[in-house]
Amino acid sequence: EDTVARIAAGEVVERPASAVKELVENSLDADANRVDVTVEEGGTELIRVADDGRGMNEADLRAAVREHTTSKIEGLEDLESGVRTLGFRGEALHTIGSVSRLTICSRPRGADGAGTELVYEGGDVTSVEPVGCPEGTTVEVEDLFYNTPARRKFLKTTATEFAHVNRVVTRYALANPDVAVSLTHDDREVFATTGQGDLQAAVLSVYGREVASSMIRVEADEDELPPGPVDAVSGLVSHPETNRSSREYLATYVNGRAVTADAIREGIMGAYGTQLGGDRYPFVVLFLEVPGDAVDVNVHPRKREVRFDDDDAVRRQIDAAVESALLEHGL
Ligand code: ADP
Ligand code: MG
Repeated sequence: EDTVARIAAGEVVERPASAVKELVENSLDADANRVDVTVEEGGTELIRVADDGRGMNEADLRAAVREHTTSKIEGLEDLESGVRTLGFRGEALHTIGSVSRLTICSRPRGADGAGTELVYEGGDVTSVEPVGCPEGTTVEVEDLFYNTPARRKFLKTTATEFAHVNRVVTRYALANPDVAVSLTHDDREVFATTGQGDLQAAVLSVYGREVASSMIRVEADEDELPPGPVDAVSGLVSHPETNRSSREYLATYVNGRAVTADAIREGIMGAYGTQLGGDRYPFVVLFLEVPGDAVDVNVHPRKREVRFDDDDAVRRQIDAAVESALLEHGL
């Protein structure tokens, strides 16, 4: 049973970044205003996600690490968009805990007295005791894959694993400018958003002044877009002179979920045309609203790669939306 759980865990928790993603999502689901992510050695030694969300009492904590338990009923929106990774409801903490040493400290919002600390190691609850902790929840994942050497061996360098973590946390920070999100790696603060601003402010915190000041607003609804499944596009794209040699800075979202899609990327690149040098990519934070039944999420669920029923139409729509934003700036 243990072995089965560990194999399953390897399928779903591929690397530190996958654990970070689940923990940050839990914090946001818990209505947090602040999410602080700390990792050491790219997340292989330590991942800590601290939030000021709803919190949990002792019974909630015990339930949280049990298999197939979730306190969440999938919202209609989730069902419709379907973009959420399938087959992972109510399993993140249990799964992460089966391949690491998991410590959760939590105190419900507004509750008097101490909180509770629960330790879960390799799939067993080894301790539960009252401890002082702030309102909200702090989850620590130590020694990820310590009991699955094969999986551990597949991890890349600290720099590569951290790059994946950075990308995940960045995506959530940009999509939630009203939440203060910070990321610290080996005692160095990588970024911290204020949680008080708009998308532009979040871009400033994450990417810095040069990038933020080059951003151009994209805003197009159904009436302004060519025909196709996309009902609305909004966000920011950089001036063509502000570019990088990596696709990493193309942050694209469908119905609020971070995804990648060839059609979206090609639409963006088409709009820039020859203004970008070969193999150069702009900074993009783009949100698409699309009816759920026009999206195929099963292309590569773990990588959150999606396709559309009509990829060509999406490409034309994104191309048009971005191009008209660039045109307004004489580009
Ligand atoms: P899911 O998120 O799909 O419900 P998880 O294994 O990620 O499954 O979490 C199990 C449960 O633990 C959640 O449903 C929630 O009730 C609780 N939980 C997890 N993380 C937090 C958190 N940061 N704050 C409050 N509750 C949490
Ligand atoms: Mg979860």
